[in-house]
Amino acid sequence: MTTAARIADGTIVTIHYTLTDDTGEVLDSSRDSEPLDYLQGAGNIVPGLERKMMGHGVGDTMQVVVAPADAYGEREEMEAQKVPRSVFPADAEFEEGMPIAAEGPDGEMTPLWITHIDDEAIYVDTNHPLAGVTLHFDVEVMAIRAATAEEMEHGHPHGPDGHHDHH
Ligand code: ZN
Repeated sequence: MTTAARIADGTIVTIHYTLTDDTGEVLDSSRDSEPLDYLQGAGNIVPGLERKMMGHGVGDTMQVVVAPADAYGEREEMEAQKVPRSVFPADAEFEEGMPIAAEGPDGEMTPLWITHIDDEAIYVDTNHPLAGVTLHFDVEVMAIRAATAEEMEHGHPHGPDGHHDHH
């Protein structure tokens, strides 16, 4: 592995981040667990953040504000669709904000998210839970290295042992 001094397309970047909304509420933080590895230029992270990462070096810290259009999109007003629990296996477990892939009539997969749940049904719409939310990232660059050929081909980082369980 070679060490790359600056973040550029084709580098694997390790960051610690804390994500808050406009009110300062913490939505997500890597500080609770392991730092995040991503491949710069592959769309692994939201576009507005990925752009601001370019050119930074290890040890850099920054505050990045990302508008919804550069993150999870604007929130579309729509009525949630009701899906009876009976269409799912009896042991299926659901949570608000959980993604569910639905297959459309043309076989295309549409991502849906659960908006709420009751005893007889789940309710879904096409808004990502963070649609319409301005994201405030507090980021620290922990490490940068060149991606391997395999990582470039897959479009995502692999762990230190080179193994991963997805494709
Ligand atoms: Zn892979």
